[in-house]
This record gives sequence, C-alpha cells and structure tokens, in this order.
Amino acid sequence: MRADNTIARNIAAISATLPEGVTLIAVSKYHPAESIKEAYDAGQRDFGESKAQDLRVKQQLLPQDIKWHFIGHLQSNKIKYIAPFIHLIHSIDSYKLLQEVNRYGEKCGRIIPCLLQIHIAQEETKFGFTPQECFEMLAQGEWKTLGNIEIKGLMCMASNTNDRDAVEKEFAAVKELFDNIKREFFAEEESFDTLSAGMSDDYKIAVEHGSTHVRIGSSIFNCCE
Ligand SMILES: *Cc1c(COP(=O)(O)O)cnc(C)c1O
Repeated sequence: MRADNTIARNIAAISATLPEGVTLIAVSKYHPAESIKEAYDAGQRDFGESKAQDLRVKQQLLPQDIKWHFIGHLQSNKIKYIAPFIHLIHSIDSYKLLQEVNRYGEKCGRIIPCLLQIHIAQEETKFGFTPQECFEMLAQGEWKTLGNIEIKGLMCMASNTNDRDAVEKEFAAVKELFDNIKREFFAEEESFDTLSAGMSDDYKIAVEHGSTHVRIGSSIFNCCE
C-alpha cells in the first residue's frame, strides 16, 4: 500500500456521497492488478472491466471473493472467458448476445445475471437497444425460454457532454423505461432491481434518477499510477 493510499481515500470519499443501497463498482480497466488489490484492501469488492480476456487474467490473479462486472461491448467469441464466474454482465446489446450468453450459462451449469444496455446517448458510437427495441424484444417473449440467464435490469451511458440538462433527461428517460419494463414484464420478480447508470463525471445525477449501481473508474484510479 502506498504511504498516501490515494485509492483508498478516493473510494471512501465517493462512498460517502452514495445513498444507502447504491453499489459502487470500481472500474479497473487499464489498471494493473496491484491497484485493484489496493482497492480490495480498502474493502472494495465490486470491480468492472470492459475486456473479457483482461478480466479473466485479473480474476485468476486476485482474491476469489471479488464480484466481477463486465461493462464493455461483449463479442460472442469472448463469452467463454468470463461465463464461469462473472457476477453481472451489464452490456447485453442484442437478443442474439443474450442467447449466446444463455448457451454458455448452460455449458457452465449456471444462471448468468445480465442487464440490458440501453442506447440513450446522442453518440452513434455507443451500443445498446433503443428504448423501443428493448421493449419490443421483451414483449416478443422468447427470452422467457432462456433458462440460463437472468435479466436483472438495465444499464446505460449518458452522452459525454457538459450539458447537465441533457444528461439529466437521459437518465430520467432510462429510469422511466426501467419502471415501465418492471411493471410490464417483471412485476413478480424481485430480482429485477438493478439500474446501472453513472460514471465519474455524472454519477450524482444518475443517483438522483434511481441508479442502483454506479461505475466509477478515473475518479478512483487515475491519480495514482
Ligand atoms: C470506462 C467506463 C466507465 C468508467 O468511466 P469513468 O469516467 O472512468 O468513471 C463506466 N462505464 C463504462 C461502460 C465504461 O466503459
């Protein structure tokens, strides 16, 4: 541990701003196992990575009680690296990917928790279902036959902009979609309870709009290497 132990201090400072019941996911992509261990030693247990192979390598190096979250664009041929142990896949962006994850869940004998990624931002580069596509996919109903995945909620990334009103509108729209989907398709499922929204620059706005899981990277790690 470094003498000044900045990672631990950053985690403590961010945690202090989160309401009860909101989970902090430390996004450790681009950061070495030593930095993750430092966060772990400060009590952090949820970590997010965006590349399946990197995640697999870190999972083998680090304590086994870490909850690993996959937050990047997932290619079908990379599911195998994470399927046996992943705690939550945030980035399901097509029905086909959901089917593929289900197939690997079957192979591993587990039910893999998943979130549906919603494309809400203005940037073309971001992945995900539009709100309408998401609703239609669920209404179609075939997903109910997939016994080795569990849909636990939604994930989104807001536009990368300083326009606070625009960001706020996006988070509010996803919260409204979450509530509608919950009511329409998961009213009986207590496990549909996760809204993954908010990063270093916008997590406070996301939390005001019902986020249950914030994904924070640079505000924890960037100062320190
Ligand atoms: C990198 C990343 C984050 C963390 O972003 P920061 O701005 O570093 O906090 C959160 N979510 C996703 C999907 C990411 O790719």
